[in-house]
Amino acid sequence: MILIVDDNQNNIYSLKKLLESKDFQVDTANSGEEALGKALKNNYALIILDVQMPGMDGFEVAENFAGYSKTKEIPIIFLSAVNTEKKFITRGYNSGGKDYVTKPIDPEILMLKVKTFYNMQENSLAMKKTQQSLELEVKGRREAQVSMKSEIDHFQLMLEALPQIAFTLNEDGIVNFVNKKWFEYSSSDQEFPETHSDDLNIDEEFQRCKKKGKALELEVRIKNIDSGEYRYHLLRMSPVYQNKKLKNWVGTFTDIEDQKKVEKEKDEFLSIASHELKTPLTSIKAYMQLLDRKLKLNTENTEAVFVTKALDQIEKLNMLITDLLDVSKIENGKLKINKKPNDLEKLIHNTIDTILQTHENQNVKIERHIGKINQLISFDDIRIEQVLINFLTNAIKYSPENNQVIVTTFVDDDEVKVSVTDFGIGIPDFKQDAVFRKFYRVEESSVQFQGMGIGLYICSEIIKQHHGTIGLSSKLEEGSTFYFTLPLN
Ligand code: ADP
Repeated sequence: MILIVDDNQNNIYSLKKLLESKDFQVDTANSGEEALGKALKNNYALIILDVQMPGMDGFEVAENFAGYSKTKEIPIIFLSAVNTEKKFITRGYNSGGKDYVTKPIDPEILMLKVKTFYNMQENSLAMKKTQQSLELEVKGRREAQVSMKSEIDHFQLMLEALPQIAFTLNEDGIVNFVNKKWFEYSSSDQEFPETHSDDLNIDEEFQRCKKKGKALELEVRIKNIDSGEYRYHLLRMSPVYQNKKLKNWVGTFTDIEDQKKVEKEKDEFLSIASHELKTPLTSIKAYMQLLDRKLKLNTENTEAVFVTKALDQIEKLNMLITDLLDVSKIENGKLKINKKPNDLEKLIHNTIDTILQTHENQNVKIERHIGKINQLISFDDIRIEQVLINFLTNAIKYSPENNQVIVTTFVDDDEVKVSVTDFGIGIPDFKQDAVFRKFYRVEESSVQFQGMGIGLYICSEIIKQHHGTIGLSSKLEEGSTFYFTLPLN
């Protein structure tokens, strides 16, 4: 907006008309005092100021404008009918004005000057705004930097306080922070601790996970610098994402050496105990079978029933010990698989028969949904039968209210999938992955149902050795489907 200051109403009127005809917004003031009041209140891009006014003349008004920060930058064009001499014009410039126009006004000249000043002022205002917003941004960034720095300091302080080795890597996977504990196992703050030659290489494993942007979890033995001893550690490296973009990695090495030792001792005990139990049990079983046969020769021998029951229990005990032996075989890498071409359909059929016979009293119904398997598949029939028996006995055991089970096969181009579905108690989402772990039992069901939590662990090892996959889908109180796949070739 342009402010015209003149004591003469006619001058104001004609100037206002001229400026408005060129689309300028115009405000007016009849005296220097009024002009000053308005200029302090409003924002003007240009002031056209008459020099000869009663009271405060134009120069005094301009000098006043120069004294206020709000008005000192506004360009002024002086209008004057007289005094075109140099001295007078100089005063006009000294008092803060920018240009000088004499009366009678040449409208074209005046308009040229107005446009120039107006644009200049608009530009300088725009520049000032940009500068202000830039200053604000710089200030904001500086504050963000300060608060980020204090967050990082806080975070690193926390990592320093951990009993584990803790470290961070930038988004390129370069180590950029390590806590004190790190130096017990590495002499450089850039290089991972040295690992045992039989264990996986940390760098290689990390590069593999980095490519996928996924967390790494690894059990490795790393060398203590002082003692030279290799100690088992659980290494965890997790990516940190911000707005879906990988920001950095946070890692820890947790010492699990003592835990590993206890685990090893337990495995050794299990292995010895199950071996030692197996031999007398086999003899007991043989004697009981002899006794069973002998007692059954005479139909009047009512004791035969007890021997049959004892044999059932011996069989259960035998299976438990066999499972324990399998676990120790897995631990020692001795679970051998003898693959040969087999008829999977026949195996499923026979296993279902066996299960129906052994669960006669429970009125179990096993439905078979067939996806035709027209070829022989290479697998270890005893071990795959063991997996299927495990799935089926679990399906029955964990479905106390429903005795229906469905066995489905699905043949693909390169694999066959066998699923066992029940309508039992189901497994909560977050516990489903864990059921394949050694000795894991879902605690909600562990009191009500007997078991050792090793059946599925053995199954997963058997399937792993067949290069197949194992898994489940389950809904609490609706039921579960356990499946395994076997490659066709
Ligand atoms: P066990 O049955 O001897 O405990 P498993 O290794 O066969 O051991 O199973 C591990 C755990 O998985 C079980 O303790 C049980 O909590 C859960 N589970 C397995 N099968 C089922 C199923 N069909 N329905 C519900 N829970 C199951």
